Amino acid sequence: MTMQPQPAADLKIRCDACPVACWIRPGMAGACDRYANRDGELIRVDPHVILERTLDQGGRVVAFNQRKTEWAGEIVPEEELFVTAIGAGTTYPDYKPAPFIVSAEVDGVDMVTVVTEGIFSYCGVKVKVDTDRFLGPEQAVVRAQGEAVGHVTTGEYGSQMLSLGGVHHLTGGSKKEGRVTCEALLDLSNGKPVELTIDDGSTIVVEAGKAPIINGVPEERMRVGCGSATIGIFAKQWFGKVDEVVVVDDHITGVLSEHASGKVLGIQPTGIKMRGRRSTPGRYFQVADPGTGWGGTSISDPLSILDPFDKNVAKPGMTLFMVSTTGEHSAFFRLDENLVPVETEMPEALRASTERIKENCEPALSTVLFIAGAGGSLRAGVTENPVRLTRSVKDTLTRVTCGGAPVYVWPGGGITFMVDVTRLPANAFGYVPTPALVAPIEFTLKLEDYAALGGHMDHVRPLSTLGDHESRLVPPVQGNVWPFASDGPRWGRG
Ligand code: SF4
Repeated sequence: MTMQPQPAADLKIRCDACPVACWIRPGMAGACDRYANRDGELIRVDPHVILERTLDQGGRVVAFNQRKTEWAGEIVPEEELFVTAIGAGTTYPDYKPAPFIVSAEVDGVDMVTVVTEGIFSYCGVKVKVDTDRFLGPEQAVVRAQGEAVGHVTTGEYGSQMLSLGGVHHLTGGSKKEGRVTCEALLDLSNGKPVELTIDDGSTIVVEAGKAPIINGVPEERMRVGCGSATIGIFAKQWFGKVDEVVVVDDHITGVLSEHASGKVLGIQPTGIKMRGRRSTPGRYFQVADPGTGWGGTSISDPLSILDPFDKNVAKPGMTLFMVSTTGEHSAFFRLDENLVPVETEMPEALRASTERIKENCEPALSTVLFIAGAGGSLRAGVTENPVRLTRSVKDTLTRVTCGGAPVYVWPGGGITFMVDVTRLPANAFGYVPTPALVAPIEFTLKLEDYAALGGHMDHVRPLSTLGDHESRLVPPVQGNVWPFASDGPRWGRG
């Protein structure tokens, strides 16, 4: 009996787009769901995204080669189209040229955009959570599905910061830690909610561009300022309406009568005595433990941060207004004959003042910045002389974008970039099970500069040759600088 050769369409094919090297059966996708075997041909499953500046936010979806038909021959100026790396595919090993090296004439200048879906083992996300509530101690481990995926890092003004991912969690722990880290990074980068637990701290749900949920409660407001700043902002509005104001804040609690703004207004001492450590007049540190109560402290009773009033200064009948930095908590007291503050109904003027504090708070959001290093082997897909690409980026001759979104390139060595994930089209990020994140990256520069840095000139193709290629035309994300804009920001040094 002789064996009949199997038709090509029935054979498994090997994907060579990443080190996993999947063998993919006909009609099936590889381990990352990005590549599939269609009738014996290896295809990138998702459409290749091309930004079209003239599209409105409705975002028609057409195959690129249908464009002329649909527009009855109307030609779109090349500068109105930007070829992103989303869905473009990856070449591996890296010495092969990037999947698309596309030339276009922009304002009479020949430009080239080199696009590839980079595979990043060195990547992570920085998450900014607008809240003063205690999420966990600095350096505490942040977990997803019980696995360590990052840590709490230094807080910023009105926000807590998390640093997630990175090569150690992706590659340096157990297999599960790497897989869960990759999954958390992918979901966060693609704008999905992720639940995180912090050792000795809170459980939070973060989602890029949405309010964080802390221990099950959505955060509404970012504080108007620290306690001292709040005193500074509102001192004049409180003058004459109350004898003393305390703005409770885990970091810097403010006391009106002692604060410089109270002194300037001529507010008299009240004999108030604060707990915690006095930093400068009217500014106190560590009045309580951090927590999820008043002003990011652990307290639910504001009087717990006061010692008895000074009998030589305080007088019965004096009034005290206590408020948190978001206006979420507030209370009004009057001193009784023993100089003990007794809570009483808040006067209308102070109620309005609490509302004014709330009004001046910005909505609390979670912000996710993806960070990755593109200064490694990925550069070989752009040029045979990789350091010239790095220099070109630093000299701002080459503009780096991520899915068409502007990025910040860190000064110093390498091409370490950060991008706000909400500035990319939907689902721009992928993964491979090595594990690593897959992120789009584009390098745009003048064609002559590309030649000078040793670019793969024999692979440069005009935009029009993408006509036989299945693409999705999408509008640029609102507010993004158009990648070809001559007046766009320069992201490198210089
Ligand atoms: S994981 Fe994805 S990219 Fe890697 S070889 Fe498999 S199908 Fe190809």
